[in-house]
Amino acid sequence: MEIDPVCKMEVDPATAQWKSEYKGRTYYFCSLGCKVSFENDPEKYTQAAS
Ligand SMILES: [Zn+2]
Repeated sequence: MEIDPVCKMEVDPATAQWKSEYKGRTYYFCSLGCKVSFENDPEKYTQAAS
């Protein structure tokens, strides 16, 4: 399972409908809202994780 970096929910990459690439890594989201939040400010959500 992947972790949605916005809300920290677990997302199954096999069924995820929303994903985004950032700095060579693919991030998965539980909803379009989380994907939009991430793309508006990806640094905010990737600092702590990686
Ligand atoms: Zn989410």
